[in-house]
Amino acid sequence: MTTLAAACWTAKGEGWRTYEQTLTLTFESEAQARDAAVTALPLPVGKKVAFSTRWDDSSPEAVAVAKAAVLAEYGYKGTFFLNKVDPAYGENVIRKFLAKGCSAGAHTATHPFLPRIDHNAMFQEVLANRIAIESCGDTCVSTFTLPYRAFTSETDPDRPRAIGECLVRAGLNGGPEHFADSATKFGRSPREWIGALEFSIDDRNPQLDKFEANIARGLKAIAGNSLECGPHLALGTHNWQPDLKAFGEIIGTQANHPDWWYCNANEYVAYRLQMFNTAIVKKGSSGKTAIFAIARPEPFELGDCVPLALRASAGARGAVVDGQTLTLDAARDFTLPHAAARQLPDRIGAVHNEDNAEGEGALKADSTLPALQAALHVDLARNALDLQIKNVSQESLGPLHLTFRLPLKWKRGVVKGDLASLKPGEIRKIPLALGDVETDARYEAGTYYFAAQCDYGDAAGAARLHATASVAAQVRTIE
Ligand SMILES: [Zn+2]
Repeated sequence: MTTLAAACWTAKGEGWRTYEQTLTLTFESEAQARDAAVTALPLPVGKKVAFSTRWDDSSPEAVAVAKAAVLAEYGYKGTFFLNKVDPAYGENVIRKFLAKGCSAGAHTATHPFLPRIDHNAMFQEVLANRIAIESCGDTCVSTFTLPYRAFTSETDPDRPRAIGECLVRAGLNGGPEHFADSATKFGRSPREWIGALEFSIDDRNPQLDKFEANIARGLKAIAGNSLECGPHLALGTHNWQPDLKAFGEIIGTQANHPDWWYCNANEYVAYRLQMFNTAIVKKGSSGKTAIFAIARPEPFELGDCVPLALRASAGARGAVVDGQTLTLDAARDFTLPHAAARQLPDRIGAVHNEDNAEGEGALKADSTLPALQAALHVDLARNALDLQIKNVSQESLGPLHLTFRLPLKWKRGVVKGDLASLKPGEIRKIPLALGDVETDARYEAGTYYFAAQCDYGDAAGAARLHATASVAAQVRTIE
């Protein structure tokens, strides 16, 4: 058996993985082509408001499927923020609401008051929940809502920041809360954590007047450009609606607005992250054409394939991206799709290294992804992780994008690196030095939970495997 050292491993840091597209614009005149510019729009073409709905907790099958159906009937989408899930829930519930255009979000594994549990438990509650939902539903989870809306602590003023740090390290990028400034509350940049202005209309007895009043308040805030989260309103509800018919009739009063984007939370978060993180660079002009290089985040990093809306400068008449003709409207706005080859993983698995075992005996595959075995091992004495991955199929796998997620004790947080390929039968052992640590004792309670996310391609398309391991936190690292 060949065992390769990680010579081909290149650590990339925490930035978004991006890919490049070439955009060619045609103008009425050569002068307009010379002055050409392109800007990203805050919402899809023609839209002024993004509207999503939030549904918390893992509802029983019939309830969740009925909710998704009512939303779809009136042209709305929702995001279901889930707790404990299993493969049957994935099959019977998650797949069914995904088919209606809804998405899955994280809501912690066991619904604790986050400010009341230790920092390592917070991280595991958030990350293990995300991994479980992704692997049971074969869908990307990029959004989150707080259990009990709880994030502050009278005895720990740093707790909101610590929660925000856990969320971002776990691979979550936003989600609706009752306050529109959740990024600030969590100590993150509004370009990094994407929220919503969320409101409720009485979970047990939905009220039309509350719906109308909150929408009026939200539209006013959007018109005044006063929301940190951007133009995103979310109707938040629980699973207590006894009468979905009444709920449907209420939301039906605001259906079919041509300038509303009826989206789910994952779509809005992915859209806004793209808007902030897409680099548009003019490469030059020739005659009446101008060429731009567009470096945009990979869809698998964003958790959704939603396209980006752009506006071209005066005189633009046509747009082509990588050979594909795009349609400009009267305002010179157009939609830039992701490259067809950039797909989201639709098979997601997870393997936990039960005893934090070492060696090739610890390698395991998820039944969804039999080609790739993995084992993550934590070595606190060396202050390192060891990830083993093995291709047990007859075809080459790759490229492999690895993302390590570390508990709050370690300053690095998220570490990314890529491998070009893994040949049939090949095994790689990748050591990761965990690096500098926080010395504060509150990071040393309970259990450290680590994860390595591997996004890769095979003959069937894009896939994702999470490898996890945990170890008691009482061993203090020697420095
Ligand atoms: Zn809840």
